[in-house]
Amino acid sequence: MKFIKHLVYILLLAFVCIAGVTNAQGLKIAHLSGNFYVYTTYKMLDGSPFPSNSMYLVTNKGVVLFDTPWDTAQCQPLLDSIQLRHHQKVVLCIATHFHDDRTIGLAFLRQHGVKTYTSLQTDLLCQQHGDSRAKYIFTADTTFTVGGYAFQTYWPGKGHTADNIVIWFAKQKILYGGCLIKSIDNKSLGNIADADVAAWPSTISRLLAKFPDAEDVIPGHFGWSGRDALQHTLDLLRQNGQ
Ligand SMILES: [Zn+2]
Repeated sequence: MKFIKHLVYILLLAFVCIAGVTNAQGLKIAHLSGNFYVYTTYKMLDGSPFPSNSMYLVTNKGVVLFDTPWDTAQCQPLLDSIQLRHHQKVVLCIATHFHDDRTIGLAFLRQHGVKTYTSLQTDLLCQQHGDSRAKYIFTADTTFTVGGYAFQTYWPGKGHTADNIVIWFAKQKILYGGCLIKSIDNKSLGNIADADVAAWPSTISRLLAKFPDAEDVIPGHFGWSGRDALQHTLDLLRQNGQ
């Protein structure tokens, strides 16, 4: 009997450890500044977890997501973590291009009453590629205001994809760049299957000119710090012969 008790205890401990490890790689939330948080989810690529950054903003009228988790299994844990930590519901989500690291959670979020948005260009590509679609569409650069926070969507031109947009928070000087921006941790351009590498440098130059005062630039994958990722992306493109 004692042996069985021990066995149950050991199995339980093993389960907690495995669950802990899974969770550590499943969803990470990092504070950026003020009410801004970067959250990271993972997809197994070539046998190891590959991270993808998204962001959320907490307001007194609810939480806004910028891109969905890459892992649909993390959608409910994300909503739960936000509720637990901030006592707010997610009310809105904007996906910044059609790839699944930005859009795969849109269907889940729609079902859970979140107002989901993409640009028309992104929606057309989602339809073409069979990706999850948003309920609402904007046809031009749009300024949203939620709980006193204003932010602007901006399509700077083609790059990582034809439809990639960025989100600009003028007051907080945060530029959410998504996969158009490469992290300073990246030594290559990553997935360029749908990229326009010839157009990409002028797209980045447009961002540098339009947002000279950006202080925090958030790339789609890997680490972020300051605004250096903009120039770094341009350097990588030039090394790539652009
Ligand atoms: Zn990406």
